Amino acid sequence: KEQIIKKSGLLEIIQFNDNLESIGGLEKLKEYLTAKARIFNNLGEAKKFGIDLPKGLLIVGMPGCGKSLTAKATANLFQAPLLRLDIGKLMGKYVGESEDNLRKAIKTAEAVSPCVLWIDELEKAFAGVGGTGGGSDITTRLFGNFLTWLQEKESSVYVLATSNDVSKLPPEFLRKGRFDELFLVDLPQAEERRKIFEIHLKKRGKFTHDIDTIKLLKSTDGYSGADIEAVVKEVIEEAFVSEDKTVTTAKILKTISETKSISVTLKDKID
Ligand code: ATP
Repeated sequence: KEQIIKKSGLLEIIQFNDNLESIGGLEKLKEYLTAKARIFNNLGEAKKFGIDLPKGLLIVGMPGCGKSLTAKATANLFQAPLLRLDIGKLMGKYVGESEDNLRKAIKTAEAVSPCVLWIDELEKAFAGVGGTGGGSDITTRLFGNFLTWLQEKESSVYVLATSNDVSKLPPEFLRKGRFDELFLVDLPQAEERRKIFEIHLKKRGKFTHDIDTIKLLKSTDGYSGADIEAVVKEVIEEAFVSEDKTVTTAKILKTISETKSISVTLKDKID
């Protein structure tokens, strides 16, 4: 469970239990972060070896596919506090307030460093800026300030930015030299879904060798990690009120088909 342990302006320091083992799939991303952690946790040595200070990572992709989970696992791996910046609230009402908000957030992060600064929904603050233009003067200025800081920072603040919509991001973010790397996360493939089922069943102490996770894959094509977690939660709640209190492959399959038909009915109503 996530817990906010301190708030300072637009920043929150978060406590959580997630680590790399909490993530099913996304193997390349996990490998990348494990290698980066070795640098981040030995910055002095890495510098002497000729390695640049890690700037940060941009993760873009579908909702519910583990971006937030990865931010938390990264902080755990980097043995550093996780600071979440509420970037949607950056824009202030008064002249200079927005720039001030950004300056204060950066200052706090640098004071806390080494840390991981998680900027969720990056597109919220900078939509329409850069590239062909279109952003307001303030957003353009803010964007410039942020980019300059990101490029020139000397502090061990690892910026982990996440976004659902690559088309709304200023293209400048996607160029080399801004973030160290850009990862795209997609809906999980079959083997990844199997692992996600296992993780969520085990997390709730419900994994037994009687559950054939392979059988769950055909009917969950197109499911996100969050969808799979929702199925597991539902099955467990149903098992709790059932006579035998067990979670079986058949019960999970039944829940999948029931939740599927509910979402189809809802979609029909909305359409
Ligand atoms: P959003 O863009 O909507 O914020 P997100 O990509 O950040 O989505 P998460 O918040 O990381 O998605 O995922 C929601 C929940 O779904 C997680 O807390 C986790 O329980 C589950 N989940 C998602 N992806 C995975 C995964 N790859 N492995 C295990 N659990 C996952």
